[in-house]
Amino acid sequence: MTHQEQDCLFCRIVRGEIPATIVYRNDYVVAFKDIAPVAAQHALIIPVKHITSLNALAPEDEAIAGQILLAAGAVAEILGIKDSGYRLVLNTGADAMQTVFHIHAHLIGGQYMGWPPFQE
Ligand code: AMP
Ligand code: ZN
Repeated sequence: MTHQEQDCLFCRIVRGEIPATIVYRNDYVVAFKDIAPVAAQHALIIPVKHITSLNALAPEDEAIAGQILLAAGAVAEILGIKDSGYRLVLNTGADAMQTVFHIHAHLIGGQYMGWPPFQE
């Protein structure tokens, strides 16, 4: 295991070292409730593999990228928001306020959400 994987918050959730409310899991991805929800429903879908951001996603990660999208519908169904609608957001870099450097797709819904999502 690399030092990055050892210390990474989300790798630690994948390994079960930090508690999380896991709602979905397969060989490629883990989904769990966000600790500070910004919407009525808010889960994070992360790859099991430590990848820092979309900027670091490589061609060999094609299956992982697809699995994140495939998991979105499954997780939305589990959260009961498949039919009402939801949004998938991957904050990447400073302008998007990425704070955890292990790829995560925010799945948010359970309420009407405005667009565009800009905020000062
Ligand atoms: P971002 O700002 O896009 O990097 O998103 C990081 C997300 O991780 C935020 O929505 C946090 O609330 C969430 N988060 C941080 N720590 C935890 C944790 N231990 N369990 C669940 N979600 C977390
Ligand atoms: Zn990680």
